[in-house]
Amino acid sequence: MAGAKKSPRKKSPSKKILFEAVFRNSLEAIIILDKSDRIMEVNPAACKLLGRKKKNLLNHKIADFLELPLNWPQVQGRAKIKIKQDQGEAKIAEYSQVQNLLPSYNLLILQDMSSFQNSAIAELELHHQRVELFAEVTLKIRQSLQLQEILQTAVSEVQRILQADRVLIYQVFTNGTGMPIREAVLPEFKPILGVKFPEEVFPEDYRQLYSQGRVIAIADVRSTDANLAECLIEFMDEWQIKSKLVVPILQNAQFPKKTPREDRLWGLLIAHQCQATRTWTDFELELMRQLADQIGIALSQAELLENLEGLVAERTAKLSQANHNLQQEMSDRLEAEAALRHSEEQLRLIANGLPVLIAYVDRQQHYRFNNEAYKIWLGLSPREIQNSHLLKVHGETEYKQIKPHIETVLTGEMVTYERDLILQDGCMHSLSITYIPHIQEDHIIQGFFALTSDISDRKAIERMKDEFISVVSHELRTPLTSIHSSLKILATGKLGSLSKKGQRMLQIADEQTERLVHLVNNVLDLQRIQSGKITMNKQAAQAEELILEAVQTMETLAQEQAIRISIQPNNFIVWADRDYIVQALTNLLSNAIKFSPPNSMIVISATKNHRQTNGKQQQTVSPITFAVQDQGQGIPEDRLETIFERFQQVDSSDSRKKGGTGLGLAICRQIVEGHGGQIWVESCLDKGSTFYFTLPELIQLESKDHG
Ligand code: ADP
Repeated sequence: MAGAKKSPRKKSPSKKILFEAVFRNSLEAIIILDKSDRIMEVNPAACKLLGRKKKNLLNHKIADFLELPLNWPQVQGRAKIKIKQDQGEAKIAEYSQVQNLLPSYNLLILQDMSSFQNSAIAELELHHQRVELFAEVTLKIRQSLQLQEILQTAVSEVQRILQADRVLIYQVFTNGTGMPIREAVLPEFKPILGVKFPEEVFPEDYRQLYSQGRVIAIADVRSTDANLAECLIEFMDEWQIKSKLVVPILQNAQFPKKTPREDRLWGLLIAHQCQATRTWTDFELELMRQLADQIGIALSQAELLENLEGLVAERTAKLSQANHNLQQEMSDRLEAEAALRHSEEQLRLIANGLPVLIAYVDRQQHYRFNNEAYKIWLGLSPREIQNSHLLKVHGETEYKQIKPHIETVLTGEMVTYERDLILQDGCMHSLSITYIPHIQEDHIIQGFFALTSDISDRKAIERMKDEFISVVSHELRTPLTSIHSSLKILATGKLGSLSKKGQRMLQIADEQTERLVHLVNNVLDLQRIQSGKITMNKQAAQAEELILEAVQTMETLAQEQAIRISIQPNNFIVWADRDYIVQALTNLLSNAIKFSPPNSMIVISATKNHRQTNGKQQQTVSPITFAVQDQGQGIPEDRLETIFERFQQVDSSDSRKKGGTGLGLAICRQIVEGHGGQIWVESCLDKGSTFYFTLPELIQLESKDHG
């Protein structure tokens, strides 16, 4: 045991030394005060806290250094107190007191709270900033309804907040592949945008984990903790990635969310640190996760909007097509209207420019249109008389005169008549008036067009011509009669005999003079009838008697030509001027004999047509048709109408050969029309002609009814 070194027994320090050491090294400030709060002892921590040397503290009142509360010193437990500072920020300390630690001594313990409080405030502020930042980014993302804008805002904002070197959005396609579609990267690092990630970077099991909301935060991709495959690390190296943070962007198929199961992995929000490794804080993780959520919601909204926009676009396209059609239709209509206006304008111009009255009257006899001539001729402004009844416009007397014609046209028959009227210029004018019915497709008469032209000049010329003819004829007749008589006397031979040649010449002179007398008489006859100077002396007459009288006149001539005249018996009574009707029949017979070959036959008859009743009269009026039928040369079809006009002959040599004047049929027509009848001819070349005319039959109603 000898040689064994006994270790010297270490002497334990005295309690005093121990307490002193505690007093000196305590991190809390310890101050011992006397009863009157004067500082008796302080430890170094107290000097530090109060910011003064020990000698400057001892024997001084504690109130010189602390802002004592009102209830000082009765403070139980721990309380806050402010330390007075000469310069700089006021320090806050937590203090506790032990009254009467030793008789007449109090113990005051202070703990510096300033740094603790500052860090808490800083922490709070940081938190506040982050919340505000998050709200701002969320707002930015949610405010945008355009998908591309949402994504771009998301990456830029995340990059800004996290101060990350690269932030990207990686879209996962339905076939499992994907690629970064948006990126915010610092200029010194390689962009990764549009690069297709190889299959191994993002395998199926990863996708499933992300679908369930997994978040990956790797501080150092190369560390063993990260547990990354070698190929993946190589890939990271290529893009200088040292740390990464990945959160899934889950999109809800139906927005708003119904069940979490309906989420689908739309893509990933990824942050890279390339400069150095980085430990991602919980806050950063949370921020990324929440932003990814916001993106998911925004995506659903954008999708909804896109659908809505699609619908709106479709509807807009339809509307704009409809609008286009409408505009086309409108411009077509406007064009048509313009064309119509133009043509209306032209028509109006023509209607107003013509020196005739033009009007349209509806079937209720109201004027619907009048041209400007109404103003000039009649002093009736078209605007004033439009829509007015004819009676109102023309007055009772005049309306009475035009009424029968209006009634006729409203039955659908065209009417032409003449009348004399004093016009606005104060002179009498001869007017020719034509009413043309306006008949619609359904045969309904809508009204009529009225056309009135001034024929005063023509009438004046006609009158002059007639007068001239009449004067000339009169002047010719007297000398002609005396020439004729002289020739007749010469022919008797009482004034001396003539040579044979002389007699022949005398015969020619007599024949021609007779023809001339005949012509002059015819001209005068026609003139008289036409001028209306003579009045027909109409009375009841036996049709057969009239026929017999005419036949008797022409019998000798017929016999000379060996032509037989056959009379068809009848017992009709007509309303006629005997002399004129006999003259008409004689003219027709004379022609028939003239244009018939010898040994032919002429048939003269009177027959009755269908009865027409005129209810207003006491008599029944129905036409009797007289007919003179021959077997002569006939009349070409194109001359059937014209031969009734003056001096019209089928063959101009007829007058020489047959001794006609071309006035006979014109006279016949005047006579027949003067009786209210009609005259016409039917003919067949080389077979013969039949001349017809009608006369009203007169029947005493009473005698018929009772007989
Ligand atoms: P005219 O004095 O020449 O007979 P009308 O006016 O009586 O004059 O007849 C006119 C023309 O009509 C005649 O010239 C003739 O060409 C034709 N005409 C009249 N009656 C007959 C008839 N019965 N047959 C053939 N032609 C006729």
